[in-house]
Amino acid sequence: MNPQLKYILRCTLCGREYTPDPFRLYCDEEHEPSLLRAVYSHKKLEIKENLPGLFRFIDWLPVERYLDAKGRPITYQSKNLGHHLGLDNLFISFNGYWPERDARIFTCSFKELEAFSVLARVPKNNQKTLVVASAGNTGRAFANICSQHQIPLYLVIPEQSLSAMWSKDGFDPCVRLIVVGGNGDYFDAIRLAKIISQLDGFFPEGGAANVARRDGMGLPVVDAVVTIREIPDHYFQAVGSGTGGISAYEANLRFLEDGRFGNKKMKLNLAQNIPFTPITDAWKSGSREITYLSEIEAKERINKACAKVLTNRNPAYSLAGGVYEALVDTHGEMYGVTNSESEKTRVLFEELEGIDISPASGVATAALIQAVEAGKIGKKESILLNITSGGYKRMRQDYTLNYLKPDLVFTPQEIETDLVKERIDN
Ligand SMILES: [Zn+2]
Repeated sequence: MNPQLKYILRCTLCGREYTPDPFRLYCDEEHEPSLLRAVYSHKKLEIKENLPGLFRFIDWLPVERYLDAKGRPITYQSKNLGHHLGLDNLFISFNGYWPERDARIFTCSFKELEAFSVLARVPKNNQKTLVVASAGNTGRAFANICSQHQIPLYLVIPEQSLSAMWSKDGFDPCVRLIVVGGNGDYFDAIRLAKIISQLDGFFPEGGAANVARRDGMGLPVVDAVVTIREIPDHYFQAVGSGTGGISAYEANLRFLEDGRFGNKKMKLNLAQNIPFTPITDAWKSGSREITYLSEIEAKERINKACAKVLTNRNPAYSLAGGVYEALVDTHGEMYGVTNSESEKTRVLFEELEGIDISPASGVATAALIQAVEAGKIGKKESILLNITSGGYKRMRQDYTLNYLKPDLVFTPQEIETDLVKERIDN
């Protein structure tokens, strides 16, 4: 590759390469769906201690600039939970708010890493408005960071996620909130966001297809590997779209090329929340395809799952470069965790580690417990547990939170191009 370029984009299916383009999401070749992957010219990661927050890892982010950021992942070796589970080398990546450990992701989720990376990828002089669909954490992250930096945003969420749209600092009017009411879910929000993003003056964030999103979400692994000085044996995370799992895997591949942290591929251990487990079901049945669920059945199951952020009806599983391939390459495993398992585990985690964690992080930790109980993890093996979100309770103790209010509300039946155009234009 041209050494003048910071990175290129390479298709994970056909290998075609593209020069950096901040808006490119897909390969132009006519083939089945695939992800592009950023390939950086800096094979050896150099940490830039002088840059703010997560931008210390700018070498491996597809951005040409950085934004003022406080938060970044922190990694520490667990004593209490590790001891409880009989594990000598349990490392925790904590993504959230925990001042005693200098964890200052004030939106309490690793989605803030993704928001910073995606927003820094967009050129400063860009005139179009970003459109993001979210089930909760991603939306809160984008709404906060866009407010702080006065970057225009149209955020689309299902009504049931309204309570997740908070900030310690309040919101700037550059952030507009569009809500899908009724029994609309994340999938409906994605449909609506897609229509808005195709109107004049808007552009889509792209979800799993955006390399900046994935490389931002891969930073917990990046921070962990440089802290532990070694690629771990196991990686545990709860997933909805599966993007976090792909991101962790891609970060691992970069460290293999870096060469200083061993030559392991960490086993991906990914978990979903019963009864909504499309990736777990597909993987366990040996299938590359997600089994189709009727809309009614999917919504019924989603309503029963406590970790709503894990309920994506169209995960990045089958496509080239997606979760299925990452699981195959790492001899990975999928887990299903019930609400009560997640809840019990959250209580246990807070008792042992001293900080509250989200339902999704409860799902990830409960999957680790399942693996230990099934004898799948050696006492000496190194394990990275990604606590993707935590410290909500602690935030509420330390700060008064402000809530974002909807500017427009659609029912699922109103998500139809002409109607959306008319209401957005007004
Ligand atoms: Zn291609």
